[in-house]
Amino acid sequence: MAPVQVKKICCIGAGYVGGPTCAVIALKCPHIQVTIVDLNKARVDAWNSPDFAVPIYEPGLVDVVKQCRGRNLFFSTDVDKAILEADLIFVSVNTPTKKSGVGAGFAADLNYVESATRRIAAVATSSKIVVEKSTVPCRTAESMRTILEANSRPGTRFDILSNPEFLAEGTAIADLFKPDRVLIGSLQTTEGKEACRALADVYANWVPQERILTVGLWSSELSKLAANAMLAQRISSINALSAICEATGANIDEVSHAVGFDSRIGPKFLRASVGFGGSCFQKDILNLVYLSESLHLPQVAAYWRQVVEMNEYQKSRFSKTVVDTLFNTITGKHIAVLGFAFKADTGDTRESAAISLIRDFLSERAFVTIYDPQVSEEQIWQDLSEACPTTPLETIKKQVTIVHSALEACTQKEAIIIATEWKEFLEIDWQTVYANMNRFQGEGHWAWRARVKTVLRHSLSSDIDLNFNIGH
Ligand code: ADP
Repeated sequence: MAPVQVKKICCIGAGYVGGPTCAVIALKCPHIQVTIVDLNKARVDAWNSPDFAVPIYEPGLVDVVKQCRGRNLFFSTDVDKAILEADLIFVSVNTPTKKSGVGAGFAADLNYVESATRRIAAVATSSKIVVEKSTVPCRTAESMRTILEANSRPGTRFDILSNPEFLAEGTAIADLFKPDRVLIGSLQTTEGKEACRALADVYANWVPQERILTVGLWSSELSKLAANAMLAQRISSINALSAICEATGANIDEVSHAVGFDSRIGPKFLRASVGFGGSCFQKDILNLVYLSESLHLPQVAAYWRQVVEMNEYQKSRFSKTVVDTLFNTITGKHIAVLGFAFKADTGDTRESAAISLIRDFLSERAFVTIYDPQVSEEQIWQDLSEACPTTPLETIKKQVTIVHSALEACTQKEAIIIATEWKEFLEIDWQTVYANMNRFQGEGHWAWRARVKTVLRHSLSSDIDLNFNIGH
């Protein structure tokens, strides 16, 4: 039988999911020892750094780590030892979209999940509850179970659970403290239900019982993909409407405000933007598309694929608006891009819309100056190199400058793009920015003002007050 009382937890993968989740479990369950392991030594060293320079920017995370690191929270590269000792193992490794082979561009790359699972099978000498926490396609738990059963030692039993993470980057700690729901999927066997109860008991240390939902294994896996697909679909829907607004003179903020007042619809995830980003939305929808195709449901696949296509359209439409607004050419012009992370309050840049925009601007041979309060220069260079694989980094560096404040970025520019809704951009003194921008020769005050506003208006945050008083 699997151990019913969880005393030691191992988390494989010290990334955006495993790190914050298991740090909060350690905080809320001082009687449980939590060890987070990763093969990436630099990442583990950062988690262990004396000055708490943790590798992930997430508001509130450092406080949590400060309270429990060394008490019942440990970070290590010794994967085998942590597996050996644990009653329950979270698998929180990365599952990027496959870049080659069958399902390239759609299916999830399960290589990391598989090797972590094989490691568990090879090392474990006692029974374990293995929890799939990475976002994975439906029925991954089934293949994990096959691997574990085929490779386990006699007398060692593995129970697989699916416990998808619904936290949002930027509010991960608040989401973990007060989750809308915790979802646990298990086989509906006696052992499966026992394992499910053991994990539910861990969460019950701080999550109300009615928010802990227990379902079948496959429902749990599919629910994660479904939740992200529905959220992304709302963004693509409002973005599709923003194109109609721009063509008709309607105001998308007014439309979304009015629509969101309908209690059946609600206001969240209803703000037009330059497009969604992040590691999950696109990946999960593409997973759903792949799954639908494998199940011979082409209409369902096409329906969800369109959500991603609308997002790509929105990004390229935005780039085109910038070019149109700057008199149909941006060659040799100077553009500031404020924000590089895929959304505010995170340093994560995966699938950030800013990357696509900057790639478009570079291909038009514009000069781009970037400022982001959290993203490192190194990360920006890496992302731009990957986005422009045929351009040497040296060439990119001739066109791109990275600076350390919004005002510095905006000085002497022809256009300013707000690509991430960082709060600090709300406080920018637009009067000063305006005074230090480049005007085109012969451009009158009102034409200039209208142009600045058009570009701003298309940017991500509609909270920014564009009624700044420009003076004369
Ligand atoms: P996520 O956003 O899903 O958390 P990340 O890429 O931030 O994704 O984190 C996943 C982490 O898992 C990475 O730090 C990676 O080094 C780690 N990892 C991947 N495979 C293994 C493995 N077999 N053993 C230990 N750690 C692994």
